[in-house]
Amino acid sequence: SVTVASFDPELAQAIAQEVERQQDHVELIASENYVSPAVMEAQGSQLTNKYAEGYPGKRYYGGCEFVDVAEQLAIDRLKQLFGAEFANVQPHSGSQANQAVYTSVLQPGDTIMGMNLAHGGHLTHGASVNISGKLYKVVPYSLNDAEEIDYDEVERLAIENQPKMIVAGASAYALEIDFKRFREIADKVGAYLFVDMAHYAGLIAAGEYPNPVPHAHFVTSTTHKTLRGPRGGIVLTNDEALAKKINSAIFPSLQGGPLMHVIAAKAVAFKEALDPSWKDYAKQVKANAKVLAEVLTERGLRIVSGRTESHVFLVDLRAKQITGKAAEEALGKAHITVNKNAIPNDPEKPFVTSGIRLGTPAITTRGFDENDTRELAHLIADVLDTPNDDAALQAIAVKVTALCAKRPVYVD
Ligand code: PLP
Repeated sequence: SVTVASFDPELAQAIAQEVERQQDHVELIASENYVSPAVMEAQGSQLTNKYAEGYPGKRYYGGCEFVDVAEQLAIDRLKQLFGAEFANVQPHSGSQANQAVYTSVLQPGDTIMGMNLAHGGHLTHGASVNISGKLYKVVPYSLNDAEEIDYDEVERLAIENQPKMIVAGASAYALEIDFKRFREIADKVGAYLFVDMAHYAGLIAAGEYPNPVPHAHFVTSTTHKTLRGPRGGIVLTNDEALAKKINSAIFPSLQGGPLMHVIAAKAVAFKEALDPSWKDYAKQVKANAKVLAEVLTERGLRIVSGRTESHVFLVDLRAKQITGKAAEEALGKAHITVNKNAIPNDPEKPFVTSGIRLGTPAITTRGFDENDTRELAHLIADVLDTPNDDAALQAIAVKVTALCAKRPVYVD
């Protein structure tokens, strides 16, 4: 049969090189993970060929009897995973899930509140360059001097601005979020509470981070971060009337045919997360993040918010007089992949920054324990001590590659 390698060697080479990069580099980008071979098998299946506009049992196309089974499995498992009454597994991405929530109950010009992008929020929470910031009037909330969410300030802003929706959730916030408090604030001003749990979903599924589902009107997530599924989005709610609005916001308002192969892969990932072993994974993700933060602190770096209670944290690099951009490049030369990230009140421009964001979901999937993570943390600090010494970086890269060889991503 025709393979990618025989039909399209140029592309096959790019894929092979990416596979090799994933194996022999350490992945610390907090939003990335390695899916299981079973997830990839489902995503690479013939379900990619099927149109299935609509929802299980109510499709606009014939021949949907088997993809209906796949989507219903994904829905039922997802509801069980987070204790939700209603679930939609069709959003193609986290951004589209969030857009579905907004358009389901808001009108252009309505006021929303979300975490300031520069303090850890996501683009889709009202940033001016995103459609959410163009369609709605946005009142951002920020972190306090301790770099923690200031709930009193959120409440004050909510009373002052009377938003129709309050968004909780973040892309670079290390601490637990008090979803109950957010709901109390939302109720006080008659706003919807929308929680975007994309970063924390895998930990929440394991009971290792607070579950927003009992508190929020809407919960969205990506499926590819800590949750370790295929790239995609989901929406959850406990309210039947809101569930109906979400379903029509996703199809036919925002999307056409769902990606049935991706939905099948989501079903596999949700089954993996329902397994008792998922709890061990989530605990190890947090244990590794804690060790990483502790060693970097010992080595003279400052952790934003002072600690992590999740899989992620930001490092303030200013003590080492290196920018986020330069740190990302130097770490890259040492086979350690990170992203530069603004820290709260960052004096540098967004493309330069004074910080990096580190997360442990991917290294934990490949089997890193606390000892491996401690060794890695020292290598990171070594890089940040000698970012301009290419020979030193090369020597560190050799050690990183050896650590990677000990913990293969895909065993065969
Ligand atoms: N929400 C949060 C909190 C995120 O961090 C991200 C991704 O970075 C998204 C939503 C968007 O997800 P996607 O990239 O799938 O559109």
